Amino acid sequence: MTEIKTTFTDLGLCQALLDALDAVGYKHPTPIQEQAIPHILMGRDVVGIAQTGTGKTASFTLPLIEILQGGRAKARMPRALILAPTRELAAQILENFTLYGKQTSLTTCLIVGGDSMKDQMSLLQRGVDVLIATPGRFMDVFERGGLLLTDIKIFVIDEADRMLDMGFIPDIEKIAKTLPPLRQTLMFTATMPPAIRKLADQFLQRPKEVSVARVSSTVELIKQHIFYTDDKKKSNDLLNFIQTQKPASALVFCNRKMDVDKLKRFLTTKGLKVEAMHGDMVQSQRYAALERFKRGDVNIFICSDIAARGIDIDDITHVYNFDVPRNAEDYVHRIGRTGRAGKTGEALMFVTENDDKNLEFIEKLIQKKIPVLGKAAAPVANNAPKPVEKTAEKAPVTPPTPSPVVKQPEKKIQKEEPDDDSSGFGDDVPAFMRPFS
Ligand code: AMP
Repeated sequence: MTEIKTTFTDLGLCQALLDALDAVGYKHPTPIQEQAIPHILMGRDVVGIAQTGTGKTASFTLPLIEILQGGRAKARMPRALILAPTRELAAQILENFTLYGKQTSLTTCLIVGGDSMKDQMSLLQRGVDVLIATPGRFMDVFERGGLLLTDIKIFVIDEADRMLDMGFIPDIEKIAKTLPPLRQTLMFTATMPPAIRKLADQFLQRPKEVSVARVSSTVELIKQHIFYTDDKKKSNDLLNFIQTQKPASALVFCNRKMDVDKLKRFLTTKGLKVEAMHGDMVQSQRYAALERFKRGDVNIFICSDIAARGIDIDDITHVYNFDVPRNAEDYVHRIGRTGRAGKTGEALMFVTENDDKNLEFIEKLIQKKIPVLGKAAAPVANNAPKPVEKTAEKAPVTPPTPSPVVKQPEKKIQKEEPDDDSSGFGDDVPAFMRPFS
């Protein structure tokens, strides 16, 4: 029996949106869109439990465009307010409005730190329908009198759990209290810790709760593995995996900002095309780095958790967890950057002996054991890749493509590397880098 799939027309979206969706090539709504859009169009408050990669941004941008397209904003009086935890996520939401709202005359404005506040204020002065903001900059602009909130009809809190992690909940409470009580409120979150439940109870009115994944579950389409190593070998291990797996588009996550920079230098000196992003970089640098990655000028993007939060890039094939995240839920967010919109993805995490506890928390959270791909040091176990013998006369056990033999850079270049991670392998780089099965 053929399965009858819901269409965007079934959801009650107008022709202008249907045309826009057709143009971007979406054939059917994703489950979160299917569940959330009809309730939002009916004017209900909605709590959407969905992680990134499920199409949750379109699940609120599409109905918002539909609802708001008839009216027009007055000066300094936006009609919808969307709060997002990071500038990058806010920029991503704006991109959604631009993409889907092409045929409408809705105006949008981004209020995020790092960009000129003067420009943002003058845009608001002209009147914008949809204001997308990070909480900190929003408070700044509001407190300077750049905004009147009396016309807000729809309030969206995106990635509420991340807002909690970043300490934004007091700001959100303050903002919500200044909004007109007669409004529609939507909240999206990947997980529902008690503080977020409390926030929903406080500011949403009898919300319809829609959920597309088990709380804290990891996306099924992602092949997850761990690789045992130690801090000294980790950089080289990562290098070897990248050189062998040749990811079309990879994110590398570090726990510390300084490691993001350090790893970028290390991989760059090894000849890889790398960009990086972390919270200490100024906004223009962040956008430029992200743009280069999005355009495909580089295929490796190293980042910290906060910086990565809003990245929405299609076709990320690999996520490398250079460090085991300290917060187990970050693991879910990190690997959720791949395996998006029905595509498969690979996630590999480097684990050292100090990571036992954090690994345990992650496996508890995702309710499964992550298979071990191998370990760096001999003896090589089970399916772990075997070291390449540099002078071997007989060919080593040949893994499937791509070839495991990693060309090492000239010694001279290694000496110039300022963040030597003393690989411990010397020139004999192990060939443990077969593609995941
Ligand atoms: P999000 O969960 O909002 O971060 O979206 C993840 C990705 O899914 C984005 O790259 C969207 O462009 C894509 N996407 C959203 N809705 C659909 C859809 N109905 N069909 C296919 N891809 C979609």
